[in-house]
Amino acid sequence: MLRTRWPLLAFLAIVAALPLLPVPEFWITQLNYIGLYALVVLGLVLLTGVGGLTSFGQAAFVGIGAYTTAWLSTQTGVSPWLALWVGLGLTLLAALVLAWLTLRMSGHYLPLATIAWGLSIYYLMGTSEALGKYDGLLGVPALSLGGIDFNQGRSIYYLIWGLALLGALALTRLLDSRVGRAIRASKAGPGGSAVMAEAMGVSSFRCKVVIFVIAALFAAVSGWLFAHFQRTVNPSPFSLKMGIEYLFMAVVGGVGQVGGAFAGAAIVKLIEEQLQVWLPALLGGSGSYEIIVFGIVLVLALKYAPDGLWPMAVKALRRRVPARERARDWADAPPLPARSKPTPGELLLDAQAVRKEFGGLVAVNDVSFQVRAGQIVGLIGPNGAGKSTTFNLVSGVLPLTRGAVRFRGQPVGALGSRQIAERGMSRTFQHVKLIPEMTVLENVALGGHLRSRKGTLAAMLRLDRAEERQLFREAETQLARIGLGAQGHELAGNLALGPQRLVEIARALATDPALLLLDEPAAGLRLKEKQALAAVLRQLKAEGLSILLVEHDMDFVMGLVDRIVVMEFGTLLMEGTPAEVQASPAVRAAYLGTEH
Ligand code: ADP
Ligand code: MG
Repeated sequence: MLRTRWPLLAFLAIVAALPLLPVPEFWITQLNYIGLYALVVLGLVLLTGVGGLTSFGQAAFVGIGAYTTAWLSTQTGVSPWLALWVGLGLTLLAALVLAWLTLRMSGHYLPLATIAWGLSIYYLMGTSEALGKYDGLLGVPALSLGGIDFNQGRSIYYLIWGLALLGALALTRLLDSRVGRAIRASKAGPGGSAVMAEAMGVSSFRCKVVIFVIAALFAAVSGWLFAHFQRTVNPSPFSLKMGIEYLFMAVVGGVGQVGGAFAGAAIVKLIEEQLQVWLPALLGGSGSYEIIVFGIVLVLALKYAPDGLWPMAVKALRRRVPARERARDWADAPPLPARSKPTPGELLLDAQAVRKEFGGLVAVNDVSFQVRAGQIVGLIGPNGAGKSTTFNLVSGVLPLTRGAVRFRGQPVGALGSRQIAERGMSRTFQHVKLIPEMTVLENVALGGHLRSRKGTLAAMLRLDRAEERQLFREAETQLARIGLGAQGHELAGNLALGPQRLVEIARALATDPALLLLDEPAAGLRLKEKQALAAVLRQLKAEGLSILLVEHDMDFVMGLVDRIVVMEFGTLLMEGTPAEVQASPAVRAAYLGTEH
């Protein structure tokens, strides 16, 4: 443990010792600001770095936390510790309303909404009589708890850094949990895919709301501390300019990493201090010249260190410190709950005249076919025939233009992919959708999302470990099943395309499906790997699983499947046994003909 954790332990020791050393008051103050900023930036690490959502409005949430406690403690005499909870409640309310208004819309609405939000809160604070207008509220009391007064820089330092480090700990734990994986999966933008997340049973909307709320609450705690640290509040620290600066800190530090929040807050704060002294002296006159420098740094950082500075430092350290592998503590964990399996021969999937039109293009033209329990059905046809679109219709990724789909006797044509996943259909994607910066095991564990329950708070408090062990045991079992048992600790992004497809199959298996939908599972595999995959699929079939698969490799399909559905130009050409399909002149002409 010492070998891998010494940088962290050294950091904690330094943080704890600093106020006891003869460090000038000025530096203690600086450190207090850095801790306050880091708390806000931690929220942005989660929201922007992990979740892919941008907010310029974090300063406004800081303002709510600060003004609530300042107003309550100066005007009503309420204890600041109670005011903290009131501030958090107000922040929660505001964040939920904002999330509800904007998060269902596409990506650009949230940043715009947070700008509007940041401006309106700032002007509300600046113009409200009760809040002291632009002069703010004076005489905010110092915090005290159990006889300890936090009325000095050196004492509140421990409160600020204690809470900032607690926040960092909670966040680290959250990211390494069921909810954390779901958040990563539903990330907006590169590296994440809401479509995949939903197909694994994750509500991507809910994930976005959760991270938006957490980021807002972190900011509110920072504001509460800020008010009792400064002992006065006025609107300027909560302006849009500060909101942008918080985002700047996150970008400089490295938006994806918890440590980056501290690095970014420290660097920006210290450089800003220096620039505010030197630039006006250098350039003459007075003005916020540092903003120009920040702009230049931002451009340079995005160009040369797009992941921020912290990941670069981590990489340099990693050369000497081995990466931490997740300890394999799940060997004797009980299995996850399993669903009741269909009886062999039961009608499992019934697609009735399903149709999809994209504008004028009929991608799937009234196609009907069935899959019975215990069968492997192949869906073949030339490129562009509509196979993937058919998959998307059946699995709820795309809405039907017309037609009906029944799964295990129930109509599912109107359901979304999350509800269909709940009912026991799981799928892979033609264009592989893994989370590259998560390990193979973590990616597969995402498949167990619907078979597990633990939420955000449980993860932050580490009350989810028993269930985590179950999830990882399941992931390991499924990986071993498809022959990737040895690669569990590798980052998914480092695998070749063939193995990545296999990981997707393992992830789908981790959902404990009744029907497995595989879109070109053998593409990119070598002959040996294909043979191994065929053996796995036969094994799955023998265990009672039903499979619908799209595949181009005729030899692979013919030797494996019970029935074949042939599509061409969106229509169903024929449906039959492999022998019937091979004997059909129409299929030969339309499909096999083009292959040879
Ligand atoms: P296959 O998987 O059989 O190769 P697809 O289902 O991917 O075929 O595509 C069938 C047809 O539908 C193609 O002509 C493709 O260009 C079109 N298509 C697929 N998805 C979309 C979409 N989202 N918007 C418009 N056209 C699409
Ligand atoms: Mg396709």
